[in-house]
Amino acid sequence: MHAQIQLVAQALARAERILVITGAGLSADSGLPTYRGLGGLYNGHTEEGLPIEAALSGPMLRRDPALCWKYLAEIGRACLGARPNAGHFALAELQRRKPGCWVLTQNVDGYHRAAGSPVQRLIEIHGELSPLFCMDCRQRSFELAEHLQRPLPPRCDRCGGVLRPPVVLFEELLPEAELGRLQTQLALGFDAVLAVGTSASFAYIVEPVLRARRGGGFTAEINPQAGELSAFVDVHLEGGAADVLPQLIRHISSDKI
Ligand SMILES: [Zn+2]
Repeated sequence: MHAQIQLVAQALARAERILVITGAGLSADSGLPTYRGLGGLYNGHTEEGLPIEAALSGPMLRRDPALCWKYLAEIGRACLGARPNAGHFALAELQRRKPGCWVLTQNVDGYHRAAGSPVQRLIEIHGELSPLFCMDCRQRSFELAEHLQRPLPPRCDRCGGVLRPPVVLFEELLPEAELGRLQTQLALGFDAVLAVGTSASFAYIVEPVLRARRGGGFTAEINPQAGELSAFVDVHLEGGAADVLPQLIRHISSDKI
C-alpha cells in the first residue's frame, strides 16, 4: 500500500492538469450514508412503497411536492448535520498546490466548497442543496436549515410557490452549464485522473478515465473495494478517502512541484 501511495503521489507531482472525480464514498467518511445519485439513503423502497428513484424524481416534485420533500429533507438534514472530512481538506490543499487541478463531484453536500476548493475549479455535476429557489417565480432562499424545521414543502415568501434545491433529481437532465465546463476541460486534456469513492456507473465518470488512458495519462482510484472502474486504472488504492487522501498529499512534497 505504501509503495502504491508513493507511485500515485509521484504521478500527481509530475502532472500539471489533474482531474479528481469524487463520489458518495468520500462523504461517507463524514458519516453521510452512501447513496446512488440522490437515492440510496434507502435501500429500495420508501415507506409509501415507492422506489426511491420515483420519490426523488422531478415529476414527483411537481405532482406531490410534500412527498418528494420528505426525502429531500432527509438528505438535507444528513448533509447539514455532518462536516467535510480530511479527504475534502486534502483535495483542497492539492488544488492550492496545483493550479491545474480540477474537482468533479457527484455529491450535493457542498463539502468541497466548505473545505476550501475553489469554485472556479469545482464542477458539481448533480448540483447542490442550497440556495433553494421558487419553482414559480425563481426567488431564492438561503434558509435551508430553517425551512427544514417547518412544514414541508418549503414555500416561497413572495408568491407561495414550492421551493426546491438546485440538485439534479431522478429523471432530470444534468445541468448544461456544468456539463459544458466539464467538456471544455476534458477537451483540454488531463495528465492524471484520480477517482475517489465513486462507483462510476455514469458515462461522465468513466469517460474522463478512459480518455486520460488513451492520451497516455496516469489513472488511479481510491476505494475500499474494487469496482467497475478498477479494471481501467493504473493503480487502485484500497482504502477510505479520509484516510488515504491525506497520506497521498503528504507524499507530494512541495519541492517536487
Ligand atoms: Zn415564488
